[in-house]
Amino acid sequence: MRKLIAGNWKMNGLCAAVAEIDAIIAGLGSGDPRAEALVCPPATLLAACAGRAAGTPLGIGAQDCHTGRSGAHTGDISAEMLKDAGASHVILGHSERRAAHGELSALVNLKVLAAFGAGLVPVVCVGESLSDREAGLAEAVVLGQLDASLPREAASHPFAVAYEPVWAIGTGRTPVPGEIASVHAAIRAALVRRFGTAGDRAPVLYGGSVTPGNAAAILALDNVGGCLVGGASLKAEGFLAIWAAAVQK
Ligand code: PEP
Repeated sequence: MRKLIAGNWKMNGLCAAVAEIDAIIAGLGSGDPRAEALVCPPATLLAACAGRAAGTPLGIGAQDCHTGRSGAHTGDISAEMLKDAGASHVILGHSERRAAHGELSALVNLKVLAAFGAGLVPVVCVGESLSDREAGLAEAVVLGQLDASLPREAASHPFAVAYEPVWAIGTGRTPVPGEIASVHAAIRAALVRRFGTAGDRAPVLYGGSVTPGNAAAILALDNVGGCLVGGASLKAEGFLAIWAAAVQK
């Protein structure tokens, strides 16, 4: 299965950061069938980045969307607007939104439906807290979030899942390979049980302190279909090194 290497720029990047997109495009060359490259800049840069990436192997995604199509929602952005600005994907249910904006899986589920309606591929994030893991609840929490965040319509639309242990995001800490592999196996089994072949096809990314130094080992694990990368994706060099790890022979 083709790996998906996705960068999440979060609330980082002014207009000058579009130069990083140009450098990523230059580094990707004509692309590679083994790995798809996606960068999710802040909404303010979406159209500019998508303009630069049009016709290149780089995809551009968004970081969140509203559940509705339009209307009186000051400050919000609809999935259709993101698509119109050039996005192909949208990250939904990131733990930073779950924590800072109180987003529950039921809301994420409605956002996934909005993404499907607009023709965007949602990248649905799930992940346990450190206390969940220490209590032996990692898998149960992740599978609970997964079930509640994905609507039944996922059986007939492309989507991706990102397993991101909350305690690994931006901390420099990662689970040991066996821990990543076992959660990914559980996610894959749950997806196949619920969505059949669509569940088998959906890439399951790992996210949380992925760097050029650990990417190859993580990407080699069973059921790891790519990476969602925060900090290390802000500079073209870091993003390209992780993408290169996904296309190495
Ligand atoms: C993320 O925010 O999705 C993430 C994985 O961040 P980092 O790579 O910086 O841990």
